[in-house]
Amino acid sequence: MRIFSGIQPTGRKHLGNYIGAISQYVESQERGEGIFCIVDLHAISVPYEPAELRERLYDTTAILLAAGLDPERCILFRQSDVREHTELCWLLSAVTSHGDLNRMTQFKDKSQKQRELVSSALFFYPVLQAADVLAYRGEEVPIGEDQRQHIELMREIARRFNERFGETLVEPDHRIPEVGARIMDLQDPTSKMSTTSGSEQGTVYVLDEPNRIAKKLKSAVTDSGAGVHRGEGKEGIANLIDILSAVRGSTPDAVESEFEGSGYGDFKGAVAEAVVEYLAPVRERYAELRPDERELERVLDQGAANAREIAMGTLVDVREAMGVGPPTGTS
Ligand code: ATP
Ligand code: MG
Repeated sequence: MRIFSGIQPTGRKHLGNYIGAISQYVESQERGEGIFCIVDLHAISVPYEPAELRERLYDTTAILLAAGLDPERCILFRQSDVREHTELCWLLSAVTSHGDLNRMTQFKDKSQKQRELVSSALFFYPVLQAADVLAYRGEEVPIGEDQRQHIELMREIARRFNERFGETLVEPDHRIPEVGARIMDLQDPTSKMSTTSGSEQGTVYVLDEPNRIAKKLKSAVTDSGAGVHRGEGKEGIANLIDILSAVRGSTPDAVESEFEGSGYGDFKGAVAEAVVEYLAPVRERYAELRPDERELERVLDQGAANAREIAMGTLVDVREAMGVGPPTGTS
């Protein structure tokens, strides 16, 4: 089983990324060949500072290693190191429908939030994302709920390619966790917790200090009612129930029964304690790993060499199938 996923080095990674994606990456190392990519080329689709991009890339690498990705057991690399991604992106654009791209809700959401330029990179994002996965003939893609539509499109692109040019690419399946696939902003429980938008107070960062994490969770927006259960108008409480069940590895039903009759204050206190405990080892390990940038580069470099080997093979097949470049065997 080949498992592929990408994560952006923009901003600071948060609890939603951790529960929805990173913890799945770590777990997937037990099940198959994991390939994980830090997608710096996606990060440039919104305004950014070049020097900061590099810093955040190291931050993200160190977070992934601290979370438990083991470069001996998986491939961890930086997207821009493997140029096959961008070439494949262009080749796939020939079988990507403009109308489909127009329907992507992430583009609609993110383009509305831009104050200046709405880049065409933001519009083209799903094609590059398709290239990321299809270059490795990935079979499974662990992601959060917000990426469902992009995976559907990627499947459509692979299907259309295979129909037009012959069976070459693999249609990947998404793997969206049952609990915690869409962690919401603590201050606005109708929007997802996000790296590039969302409020500081409403976002628990993986690297936040324990006191800060506790404070954010204890001041999460709830409702004027009572009762720790999900339901109409209870998005804030439902989000906290999701968070607690995800970090404990239990279910929302179990959390509801446990806190039946409890007040919001006690419940929030329990969530805060559980999240602090959940993230503490990652933060400690991160502090050990992050200063050694040469070692981080070494890991990424090794990962890129392994990734390139796989991606190059796919590109040979794709070019051959599409009639691009000299026929195989003559160059
Ligand atoms: P942005 O909002 O700028 O797109 P992001 O927070 O979504 O940033 P990404 O690097 O794009 O960060 O996403 C990495 C992974 O985290 C993806 O698999 C995505 O589906 C997942 N993810 C993102 N936000 C959440 C969330 N709130 N809850 C659960 N999973 C999430
Ligand atoms: Mg995202």
